[in-house]
Amino acid sequence: MFRTALTASLFLLASAVGLHGQVAGESPSAQDEAESLAREVEAKVAETRGLAYRHPTAVGVSDEADLRDYLGRKIAESLTPQVADAQLRALALIGCYDRDTDIVAATTALLEGQVAGFYEPSEKKLFLVRRGEAAGALAGMDKIIMAHELVHALQDQHFDLEKFYDEVAQDDDMLNARRCLVEGDATWAMLAFGQGLPMTRFLVNQVPDDRAGLLAMLEKVKKMGMGGQMDLGMMGAESLEAAPVLDVDELVFSYYGGARFCLALMKKDDDPKAADLARLDAAFRDPPLSTEQVLHPDKYLGDRDDPMRLELPDLGPVLGDGWTKLAENTFGELRLRSLVRQKGFDRARATRIHSGWDGDRYAVWTKPGEADVLVWASAWDSEKDELDFAAAAVESVLADPAGETGTWSRQGGRRDWQRQAFGLASGLRIGDERGVYLVHQAPAQLREALLNALETGTKWSEIHSTAKDR
Ligand SMILES: [Zn+2]
Repeated sequence: MFRTALTASLFLLASAVGLHGQVAGESPSAQDEAESLAREVEAKVAETRGLAYRHPTAVGVSDEADLRDYLGRKIAESLTPQVADAQLRALALIGCYDRDTDIVAATTALLEGQVAGFYEPSEKKLFLVRRGEAAGALAGMDKIIMAHELVHALQDQHFDLEKFYDEVAQDDDMLNARRCLVEGDATWAMLAFGQGLPMTRFLVNQVPDDRAGLLAMLEKVKKMGMGGQMDLGMMGAESLEAAPVLDVDELVFSYYGGARFCLALMKKDDDPKAADLARLDAAFRDPPLSTEQVLHPDKYLGDRDDPMRLELPDLGPVLGDGWTKLAENTFGELRLRSLVRQKGFDRARATRIHSGWDGDRYAVWTKPGEADVLVWASAWDSEKDELDFAAAAVESVLADPAGETGTWSRQGGRRDWQRQAFGLASGLRIGDERGVYLVHQAPAQLREALLNALETGTKWSEIHSTAKDR
C-alpha cells in the first residue's frame, strides 16, 4: 500500500452492512446538489462525532476520469517506481505478494473500483464520485458517503491529517495503525449517523474484517438475491477479487477493524447507548503505536502493551562489497495475520501465531547478479510465541518449493534451523536470550555470520507512547 493520506469511503463499506441505494428516476449529481447535501447533513455529523466545524467544508464532484487522475497523482506521491520495486521485492520475499505483481497498477485498480468519495486534506475539500450508469443508484448512498467524508473534514480541522500520517510515513505498521483510527472513526460515525449507535455496535461486530470473509459474505448476499436490479452489494467486488490479498486485507481491516477499535475505546460500561467521545479524541493525540493495539484494543486500553522497537545492525560489512540495503520496515501484526491466513494455517493456529507479536523489523539487501537477501528480527510476548512463529516461518516464509525441510539444532537456549540448496541458504534462530532472527536466500557461506550479527547487533528498546500536544 502507498503511504500518503488518502481518506476515502469505499463501496465495501456500504456492501458489508447491507446499505442499498434506491434507483432514482434521474441522476442528480450536480455540484450544487452535493453542496446542499453537505449543508443538510453536517450539523448531525458534528453532533454524532462530538466535534464542531471550525469552517464549512468545501465540496466537489468527481467523475471516473477525475478519480483516476487523482488516484494516479496520489499514489505516485509515495509509490515512486523505485519505492514500489523495493516494496514488492521485500514483501514478495516474505511471501505476501507474487513476484510479478505490478503494485502501482494493483493499488490503482483496487481504489478505482472502490472509492465512492474522498476528502483531500491539502485542499481541505471533499469529493463525491459520480460513476456513469451507477449515478442514479448511488444517490441513495450519497448521504452516508457525505457523512463519512465530513467526519474526515472534522478530523482534519482538529487533528491535522497530513501531519498525522507524515509523522509515521517511515513505519508501515504505525502508519497502518493510524489509518485504522482515521478510517475506523469515519466508519463508525457514518453508521451511527444513519442507524444510531446500538445498531452500529451490532453491525460492526458482525462484519468480516478481511478479504476472504468479506467476499464470502458478498457471495452469500448474491445467492440470496438481495439487492434488486442494481446490486450495490456487489459493486466493486471485482476490484476486491483482482487485487493482492494483502492490500485488500489491510484496506478492509482499516475500516471495520478500525471501527471496532474506536467503539471499544468509547465504550461506557454503564450505558451501551452512549459513547465517550473524549477518549476517541484523546486517541488522535496519543495514537495506537501498532496494528497489534488495534487488533487487540485491550493492549491499548488500560495496562498498555506498547511494541518493542527493533533496530537492525548494518549488515553491509558482513555481506561485503557491492551489497546495498534495498528496503527496511516494520511488518506488524496485521500483515502477519494476513500472511498466515494466506498460507492456509487453520484459524486457531493462525490466531496463536500473530497474537504473540511484540515488534519486528525486516530488511532486504541486494547486489547485482545475486539473489535478494531477506533478514528479519522479531520480538514475541513469550517463549512459546517465539516457537509458534518460528515453526510457522519455517513452513511458510522459508519453505522450499522443492520440499526440502531443513534441520534443527540446539545449543543452550539457542535453537537454529537451516537449509541450503544451490549455494543459497536460509536460516532461522531463536535467540539465546530472546527474539527470532531469520535470514533468507543468503549466500551459503554468510548465513551463520548474518544470524550472529542479527542476534548480537539488533538493538531493542521500548516504544513509549507520548501524548503530544496536537
Ligand atoms: Zn474514509
